[in-house]
Amino acid sequence: MEYQKIAELLFPDVKLTCEEIFAKYPKRNLKEGQVVSRFAPSPTGFIHIGNFFQMFISYNLTRVSDGVFFLRIEDTDSKREKEGAIDVVFEILNRFGIKIDEYQTLDGKDIGNYGPYVQSQRVEIYKAFAKKLVAEGKAFPCFCKKTEGKEDVLKLRENKFQNDDEKEYDPCRDLSFEEVKKHIDNGEKFAIRLKTKNTGKERVKFYDLIKGEIEAKANAKDFVLLKNDGIPPYAFAHAIDDTLMGTTIVVRGEDYIGSTPMHIELFEALGFKPTVYCHNPLICKLGDNGNKRKISKRYDPEADMRYYFEQGIPTTAVLEYLLGIINSGFEIWRMKNPDADFNEFKFGINDITAVAPIFDLVKLADISKNVISRLSAEELYDSWLNWAEEFDKSLAAWLKENKAYAISFLGIDRSGAKPRKDIANMSMIKEYFSYMFFRPTLDEVAEEDKDKFNEFMAAYQKAFTFPSSNEEWFALVKEVAGGLGYATDNKAYKANPEVFKGNVAKACEFVRVAITGRKNSPTLYEIIKSLGEKETRERLNVKK
Ligand code: GLU
Repeated sequence: MEYQKIAELLFPDVKLTCEEIFAKYPKRNLKEGQVVSRFAPSPTGFIHIGNFFQMFISYNLTRVSDGVFFLRIEDTDSKREKEGAIDVVFEILNRFGIKIDEYQTLDGKDIGNYGPYVQSQRVEIYKAFAKKLVAEGKAFPCFCKKTEGKEDVLKLRENKFQNDDEKEYDPCRDLSFEEVKKHIDNGEKFAIRLKTKNTGKERVKFYDLIKGEIEAKANAKDFVLLKNDGIPPYAFAHAIDDTLMGTTIVVRGEDYIGSTPMHIELFEALGFKPTVYCHNPLICKLGDNGNKRKISKRYDPEADMRYYFEQGIPTTAVLEYLLGIINSGFEIWRMKNPDADFNEFKFGINDITAVAPIFDLVKLADISKNVISRLSAEELYDSWLNWAEEFDKSLAAWLKENKAYAISFLGIDRSGAKPRKDIANMSMIKEYFSYMFFRPTLDEVAEEDKDKFNEFMAAYQKAFTFPSSNEEWFALVKEVAGGLGYATDNKAYKANPEVFKGNVAKACEFVRVAITGRKNSPTLYEIIKSLGEKETRERLNVKK
């Protein structure tokens, strides 16, 4: 009775009962095996690759089970919130082609029957459950100052909590109705804390879909359910939301395992069926000392999902890379099905990796090169232009004016059974094909080759006719080289290199450097074809 009175005193305006709330969130009508899961980002203005990774696991579990994937914005920490941060969430999901079944649109319309999908709009619901817990004597108001700041809680622990080793009971946990009333009449703010039923000696067991059964010390803290602004921290909000919204699997990073005993006690206190957790390893990086460390926003640009757009790494490559991390079976599947859409790859909970994956940009680049090598010249042109319109405006203008030419050089070594796999992202193409934009320098001609280079180019330029096949092009280089005393037969050259000026490979290198400025390039004949006769002639007419 006393508790009931305290609850009314604390929440006179909360009329909504928990029964009424439950009536608005009917049990989902799911078929056997269908998974309901969610992405629950806090709108901080960027999405960390680690959060994206968890989201992608969750998304795939719902996708392969034909289940429901929803987006819940966890915006209860106003200090961390940034203007426009929800747009960033949508932007990233959209760009990666992640389809969400239920969410709140940017203009505030809930799509789906389990909304609102934004936590700051669910405060009345949280308060109703907090009121219920207070009325049942399972939670209590705490009037200690600034209970939500970490430092202050630490101070509280030192000074006031009954801290006999294990338990962290709050000094306000046993206030009488009169005492509570006094605080309220004084206009004091209060937080709501769980009155833990544990003493610090108990253990708790829970089942994790990845790690199996976990045994840990049970929670023995009177932790905060509602801060003194009436807003819940993560633990309370997620317990209520995932229950009402019918989440069947909560996929999150294993950094949450430590607080799971708190969550278990909370579910119990609320009278909810415990949720099913799937705690996944966090994506790591190898540090300079060879040890694994978490990818951090501060040191690793690739921690921010926008990095991949800025670099112009195809989203498919990023997703395929993550799929490979989630499930090692993906790579084998990809080898067997080189052209299949990765969405056709199916996996279940048991296939998810339990080992902390190492994020490797080189491996990602390899996948990306494969993905890009499968594009036609036209498709690559479109991707490059799309990227340039956002990140390199002058390039975009150039690409639009020179579409046919750009497609012609993007097509170099692209068709055929073994397309070149050199391009890893859009931001490198301009440099990769710099000789298609600018006449090259002759830095690659070594000082001791200078005279030979000039002699060969003078002769070749004179003899040059625009070739109509790779064979024709090569035949002419060979002919000119032979005439000048280069070996046209490699065996003969190897036997007596000193009697020749060099071999045909050397002559080809001269032409390559004259045309591209490099000793290595895609097929030179194709480059010449794309440059056209006039430009090729100009480039051959050189002297070092
Ligand atoms: N808002 C939490 C986060 O961003 C969500 C964790 C969860 O998925 O439950 O870490």
